[in-house]
Parts: sequence; C-alpha cells; structure tokens
Amino acid sequence: MLRIAVVGAGIAGLACARSLRNAGHAVRVFEKSRGAGGRMSTRRTDHGSYDHGAQYFTARDPLFRAAVDQWLAQGLVAPYAGRIVRLEQGEVIPLSHPEQRYVATPGMTAVCRALSADLEIDFECQITAVTPGESGWRLSWEEGGDSGFDAVVLAIPAAQASPLCVAVPDLAVQLRQGGHEPCWAAMVRYEAPLPLEFDAAFVESDVIGWVMRDASRPGRVPGERWVLHANAEWSKAHLENSAETVAPLLMDAFCAAAGFDAEAVEFRAHRWRFALSRGLNAGSFWHAGRRIGACGDWCADGRIEGAYLSGTGLAAKLRSAL
Ligand SMILES: Cc1cc2nc3c(=O)[nH]c(=O)nc-3n(C[C@H](O)[C@H](O)[C@H](O)COP(=O)(O)OP(=O)(O)OC[C@H]3O[C@@H](n4cnc5c(N)ncnc54)[C@H](O)[C@@H]3O)c2cc1C
Repeated sequence: MLRIAVVGAGIAGLACARSLRNAGHAVRVFEKSRGAGGRMSTRRTDHGSYDHGAQYFTARDPLFRAAVDQWLAQGLVAPYAGRIVRLEQGEVIPLSHPEQRYVATPGMTAVCRALSADLEIDFECQITAVTPGESGWRLSWEEGGDSGFDAVVLAIPAAQASPLCVAVPDLAVQLRQGGHEPCWAAMVRYEAPLPLEFDAAFVESDVIGWVMRDASRPGRVPGERWVLHANAEWSKAHLENSAETVAPLLMDAFCAAAGFDAEAVEFRAHRWRFALSRGLNAGSFWHAGRRIGACGDWCADGRIEGAYLSGTGLAAKLRSAL
C-alpha cells in the first residue's frame, strides 16, 4: 500500500483517487474550495439552485458510458429532455441531430459528491508547493504541510498545475502546453416564465454563447432561473471587470438575442478563469521516475467525460507503475 496525494477534488481528481483507493492505496485528496465538484458546481439560493459551471455532459466512450449507466441506476444522473436550439439573428433553429445529454441530479455536484464518499479529503486547503524530500513528496499549504507521499497526482487546470511542478521541469514543460479559456457566467431569476419556445440555446452573439433554463432539468426546484454563459472572446476582453457590471451586460445580450423584454428579479455573475479547454488529447501525464502526474479535462478533450477518463486513466498508469 502506497501513500498518494491527489490535488483537486473535481471529477478527474475524484475518479483517480477512488480508483487508487479501490486498488488498496492510502489516498489523501486536497481541495482548495469548501466542497467537491470543481467546475461541476451548484450555487444554492433561497429560490432554487443554479449550475453555473458545466450544465450537462455527453457520454461517447464505452468506459464512461458504463460509469454513467451506474449513476443512472443510482439516480445521480438523468437524461436531459429539454428543448435545445440554436439562436441566430433572432431566429430559433432546432438542433437537427441532438445528441443524448445527461445532467446530474439534483445538482451538477451530485456525481462528485458520490465519488468523494469515504475518501479522505482536506477541504479549504490550497496546495502551494510540491517539493521532493528525503522520504517522498512534501505538499505545503498556507498553514502547514505533510510529507512522505510516495506519489502525487495534480488534478487541476494546467496553469495551476505547472507552478507546482517546478521540481520536475520536463513535466512542467508538458503541462504548459495545456490551457483554458475563461467564461463569465450569470445566474438570473425572472418572476414569470419567459415567452420562449426553448429551454437551452447555443447563441450566436458578440456576448453570449449559451443559455439554459435551470429548472428544465430533472430534480430542480421549479422557477424561471437561467444560466447565461458569455463566449470566450467576450469573457477574455472583460475578465477583470466586476461581477456587478458584467451581469447586466449578459442579461441585455440575452434579451436582444432571444427577442424578449423582461426585468430580472435576482442576478449575480461568476468569473471562471479556467473554464473550457480545447484539450490536448493526451489522456494524462505520468512521470514514472519521479512518481508525479497530472490529469484533468485539459489533458483529454476539455469536457466532463474527458476529465473522468483522464483521472481513471492516470490511476491505471499508477497502478501498473507502482
Ligand atoms: C462555464 C462552463 C461550462 C461548461 N460546460 C460544459 C458542458 O456543457 N459539458 C461538459 O462536458 N463540460 C463542460 N464544462 C467543462 C467541465 O466542467 C470540465 O471539463 C470538468 O468539470 C473538469 O473537471 P476537472 O476535474 O478536470 O477540473 P475541475 O473541475 O476544475 O477541478 C479541479 C479542482 O482543483 C481545485 N484546485 C485548483 N488548484 C488547487 C490547489 N492548488 N490546491 C487544491 N485544490 C486546487 C479546484 O478548486 C477544483 O475543485 C464547462 C465548464 C465551465 C466552467
């Protein structure tokens, strides 16, 4: 049995940690925020929740489909049956070959919560350095650290992982190939149902790229709550703006693109600095000599499916290497 540290409790880190734990290793997960899920996160309010990061996922690979089948049986995910369209210059165009989409229930965090059950996780613990010591790797955080890890997994975005890799320059170089675009998200509630003939839309606009009625998904509290995602170019250009100034701009763009006029009764915005990655299609990275590796959506296809497969794939590499 080896002692393995996993940094990051998103779906990649948790899938990796669970697989290593099932193989009999002693795994400790470190997560900087208060809960598991990363970009599959859910914001709760008095009027229902918003999934302000990933909104749904698809399942193409047989390994991931098998995991999704299990989650379906456990009631952790459900097929999405909402009306998805494309919005182009005010025209509503139905998707011609809609792919089956899934959502976690009752919020996108549900899958990660289930994956994190029984794992040893230190929340609100941001790893600031990973350094080699006499007895294995040492991980440091603001108020302390722990040594003696036989292996380390960095399951965090590439830009956050490469500074933790300074002790292994050749791995750091590989990590620097990965990257993410930012995304501003707005969570908006209207008093009455909007006069729209769709539940979600890919939007052609200078500002927003995607909108979804949160409660069009199974397991959600009813209500007219919408999540609006700005496109990557707009998000980049307005990255350092305040959330207070961004939310109204996204709402105006939604009204203009969908052709309605309604005042929101509640709104807030969230800045995702590392939102979407084109993905390196490399699966995962593992430095066998130094026993440190990296996984996450950016190593694979930039989606939830890729993140999960990257995490389980790295765990398989570790199991055969160790
Ligand atoms: C706005 C938006 C829309 C999206 N839409 C979709 C979609 O429709 N379909 C889809 O499949 N995917 C979508 N995605 C992408 C999807 O969310 C990701 O591919 C997936 O969740 C990535 O999982 P991950 O485990 O690789 O990373 P993350 O979920 O980012 O997990 C990394 C974790 O590491 C933690 N962390 C970072 N640094 C440290 C540190 N130093 N110490 C400790 N912890 C740390 C973070 O807090 C985080 O919890 C979307 C993402 C966003 C933001």
